[in-house]
Amino acid sequence: MKDLMPVLFVGHGSPMNAVQENGFTSALRSLGRDLPRPKAILVVSAHWLTKGTFVSTSPEPEQLHDFYGFPDTLYEIAYRPKGSPELAKRAISLGEPIPLGPQPFRGIDHGAWAVLRHLYPAADVPVVQLSISMSETEDAHYRKAAWLKDLRSEEILIIGSGNIVHNLALMSADQVDSEPYVWASEFDRYIKEAIEAADHDNLTHYWRDLSGAASLAVPTNDHYLPLLYVEGVRQGTDRVCWVYEGIQHKSVSMRTYLLG
Ligand code: ZN
Repeated sequence: MKDLMPVLFVGHGSPMNAVQENGFTSALRSLGRDLPRPKAILVVSAHWLTKGTFVSTSPEPEQLHDFYGFPDTLYEIAYRPKGSPELAKRAISLGEPIPLGPQPFRGIDHGAWAVLRHLYPAADVPVVQLSISMSETEDAHYRKAAWLKDLRSEEILIIGSGNIVHNLALMSADQVDSEPYVWASEFDRYIKEAIEAADHDNLTHYWRDLSGAASLAVPTNDHYLPLLYVEGVRQGTDRVCWVYEGIQHKSVSMRTYLLG
């Protein structure tokens, strides 16, 4: 049997991280040098939300600059990996009972490329995206991820890209120098402990945290859900490797970890 590819959860934060030199981006770059080279990458991004579940099938996906009000430099960043119709087809066949729809016109959003440009700067690994169906429960997302498991023995790197704590309404303009909100640190730590313990019951039912921080940390669950896809393909032999821990803008956790 082939070695299992690791699985990665990335807290992607502000799109500005795509062009910044900071502790988070240097941790991603250094991880990219250590990661095995996959045949293709499957990204579950917080920025592709749909009714029903879809897979991007284009061989030449467009790069989406799907954010507003940022400096011009960010819109000028080019990161254009190929797609992988082969991986898309394989994911669709694995997910047959879901069902999983092909989406030939979907491009690569910043939840994927802002992270990948640090991990694989040459953009030479094909990328496919899987959408998040917003009409389903957390349990359903976690169970759904299980059918992706086989991809790990097929040289496919699965990445969940979101944020464990993500409250834009209360974020501070200051990115790194302000103390995080107490509830942000509490919830981030609570989820960290659940990840370390592989406590999938607490991870799936994250709102049961005793401090009451969850409602502020996860006001909407779009950025939390990619984590459940990473945990859904976790194997008993996987160890947790913390790639980066930190909170930007007081309310956005950049916690990033590798399972492998
Ligand atoms: Zn985001």
